[in-house]
Amino acid sequence: MNHTSRHTQAVIDLDALVKNYQYIDNLASKSNTIAVIKADAYGHDASKVAQALSSKVTLFAVGFIDEALALRNDGISKTVLILEGPFKESDFELAQENDFSLMLHSDYQIKWLRSMTPEFSGDIWLKVDTGMNRLGFQVEQVDSIMSQLTAQQRKKLVLCSHFSTAEQVDSAKPLEQLAKLKKLVSQYGCQFSMANSAGILNWPTSHGDHTRLGLALYGISPIGENPLSQPLIPVMTLQANIIAIHTVKIGEYVGYGDIWQAQRETILATVAIGYADGYPRNTKSGTPVSIKGAIAPVVGRVSMDMITVDITDLENVIIGDIVELWGKNISIDIVAQNSDTINYELLTRVSKRVPKVIAS
Ligand SMILES: *Cc1c(COP(=O)(O)O)cnc(C)c1O
Repeated sequence: MNHTSRHTQAVIDLDALVKNYQYIDNLASKSNTIAVIKADAYGHDASKVAQALSSKVTLFAVGFIDEALALRNDGISKTVLILEGPFKESDFELAQENDFSLMLHSDYQIKWLRSMTPEFSGDIWLKVDTGMNRLGFQVEQVDSIMSQLTAQQRKKLVLCSHFSTAEQVDSAKPLEQLAKLKKLVSQYGCQFSMANSAGILNWPTSHGDHTRLGLALYGISPIGENPLSQPLIPVMTLQANIIAIHTVKIGEYVGYGDIWQAQRETILATVAIGYADGYPRNTKSGTPVSIKGAIAPVVGRVSMDMITVDITDLENVIIGDIVELWGKNISIDIVAQNSDTINYELLTRVSKRVPKVIAS
């Protein structure tokens, strides 16, 4: 879609992105801060994000090899870590040719690795399951895996694991998980990586050699409403325009299903964004949006292409005005709470028909 008649956009603030990176990189100053840009950089445009960070970041991470190849197509030349490792044997060749590091988590991948000639010379990261029980070798398996690697591969190896409750400051589990990984690290004398965003913020002893920075890079706190008052700046502003304004009488219903009834004469603005754009259908009436710096509630059900907003209490609102759905004025966390999901899901579900526009 090159022609844009509709103004619905996700505006991406790359200056904020760079500031967030620097802020977190300073917090974990002894570690290498990996920028996690899987899922199109959490919906922020992975290639643009990678370009903006390329002078600061030494390693990017994505989920699977297709995402890394897309970065190469767009001219990103930094090393890319593939967090879920190879899905196919031939992924090893692609990784070798393209300077991708591979996270290995299962025996079948070790088998593929061992059948490569000449041997795979990219960096290998071993994922160990320390308690999340989703992905990774069991602690007891590590010895046998180590013995299957060549001396060269062992030399550069990074042991890593993933927290299941890093956002909960009162949980005992993160330090238990960390202790399991650190025991292996001292046994084998490897580098290690444990912390995601919440790990970086809540568990400084987990920083290790490499942190894996995702959500906080995009200016969103993984640990709730800025309890540490971090100076993170939201990178994405999801916005749309008012395309109609009208008044409904007391007692009238608004939108599909007649789920909202006017308790007073109400001025409604109809805004050109809906669930087909990634604004969740189950967002509750009362969820705030921002118009010219003022707050107004969404009322009635979210439709595919439109929402309705009660602007009765606002002044000077006209057709064409920009409405912020989330960003610097409206916390994405509020929208997430009001639609039974989390900030991560909202960011990654902004749909393809919403252009990502770099803020100037
Ligand atoms: C996505 C991902 C991260 C980043 O997590 P955030 O919570 O977004 O910081 C880190 N490590 C792994 C293995 C991941 O898959």
